[in-house]
Amino acid sequence: MAEGGSWRVEVDREACMGSGICMVYAPGSFVHDDETKAVFQQPPGDPLDAARTALEACPTGALTLIVDDGEV
Ligand code: SF4
Repeated sequence: MAEGGSWRVEVDREACMGSGICMVYAPGSFVHDDETKAVFQQPPGDPLDAARTALEACPTGALTLIVDDGEV
């Protein structure tokens, strides 16, 4: 897979518990909104690998990585 391709992360706001773990691993790509839910920043400010780590670290599985046309 091309690491330079476009990608984004969807946040399941119902699942997100606001732990902030994704912001630890990908601080340039996620912020909290005023409900302490994660919001993905477009364009992301981190490498794709950092986003993958954030996804794996999310305690509630609230994040879905979408690379180009497919979910991974
Ligand atoms: S790590 Fe998961 S639960 Fe925590 S703020 Fe990010 S998306 Fe929400």
